[in-house]
Amino acid sequence: MPELSPHEAATVFFRNGAELIDLEPELIDVLATSDRELAVQVPIRLDDGSLLVARGYRVQHNNARGPYKGGIRYHPAADLDEVRALASLMTWKTAIVDVPFGGAKGGIEIDPTGMSAAELERTTRRFTSAIHHVLGVYQDIPAPDVNTNAQVMAWLMDEYSRAYGYSPGIVTGKPVELGGAPGREAATGRGLLAVLDAYATGASLELAKTRVVIQGFGNVGSNLAILLAAAGVSVVGVSDVDGGVYASDGLDIAALLALAKQRRPLHELPGAKPVDNATLLTLECDILVPAALGGVLTEANARDIAATVVLEAANHPTSPAADSILHERGVVVIPDVLANAGGVVGSYFEWAMNIQQFRWTEQRFNDELETRMRESYANVAALAKAKSVPLRRAAYAVGIERVAAAAKLRGYADA
Ligand code: NAD
Repeated sequence: MPELSPHEAATVFFRNGAELIDLEPELIDVLATSDRELAVQVPIRLDDGSLLVARGYRVQHNNARGPYKGGIRYHPAADLDEVRALASLMTWKTAIVDVPFGGAKGGIEIDPTGMSAAELERTTRRFTSAIHHVLGVYQDIPAPDVNTNAQVMAWLMDEYSRAYGYSPGIVTGKPVELGGAPGREAATGRGLLAVLDAYATGASLELAKTRVVIQGFGNVGSNLAILLAAAGVSVVGVSDVDGGVYASDGLDIAALLALAKQRRPLHELPGAKPVDNATLLTLECDILVPAALGGVLTEANARDIAATVVLEAANHPTSPAADSILHERGVVVIPDVLANAGGVVGSYFEWAMNIQQFRWTEQRFNDELETRMRESYANVAALAKAKSVPLRRAAYAVGIERVAAAAKLRGYADA
């Protein structure tokens, strides 16, 4: 089977879900395409005086259920096809966890590794000024994603506020000092753990006896690792872009965090075996968590995955061909659109707090997040069981049905 592009792959999963609910062909056509795709030039003055002319994108997939919502990533592979795919995933994700948002995504095709803070700030401000006319507190609300963080959101918020007045609700994942929500930074990891725990309970799997391997040690991977370690679950393998480490009796997560903080290679961890990223995915373990980039589980390696559960923390880590192989092999895949939705649930809480000018405690944030994630899992798992389909197909069906219902009520094709 030829390698599908990210958007082609997302479309395969979308059509599988749509088929399960017998979605009308014309709604399939509407929902298979983006509402709006904005491509902009981002000229970046580098510290050495030279000019880097990058491409940036904001794709708004669908807003039938609420304002467009989705992160912004800085990555060389964040081209229009990838951003388009990620925007559509956001539409299904926000619907699956039933938050009142649509789906969007943004990206700049740059490698920010080694860029100074001043260069990143100029990049962010320049990009914001090129796309701010399509953003809005009730229109389109960005958030962090790969290689962007709370500081980047602060610059985005400031640049937007220079044009439109003080607008903390224009982004989520902001620093707490600017109206960010305590709990948001760890929300994706916390949501992953809640979903994994709900799955384990249903499958009579004792989480404390499982071994977990995580690819990616950024916001999502590291927060999940911290929470798993705190829950007594053994994290036996971890990697970042430069490779990883393995220890059959469990890794010292606090020590790994200290290395990551100092930007030192993870393989400097004493007593652990260095491992490359391709091998990491095939390590002996119970639960494999891709938490870095898309397209890492493919037809080429799906038969070598030793885990019995794949918890998709990254977006679109599994190709459709790999998904079928894993299913045939009895490997349970807990899909991205459900598993990693804790981030957008947390973003919804933050946005709701901003527009009400009210702040929750971290405890309330975490409790409501966990409840929402467990309920969303239960809803998807019930449909999967009733229809005898994998969790991914059921999750898409749940999301698509909600978006389609809203689109119909609003009259998606009425003049
Ligand atoms: P991040 O930039 O904080 O971290 C990314 C991590 O992946 C880093 O450790 C990096 O070294 C590693 N990495 C990059 N390229 C790699 C490679 N080729 N092999 C192995 N590791 C590699 O990003 P993040 O926010 O943690 O996002 C990770 C994934 O989770 C992305 O797919 C993102 O879309 C998804 N996600 C993020 C959020 C969120 O709230 N941040 C929410 C939902 C989903």
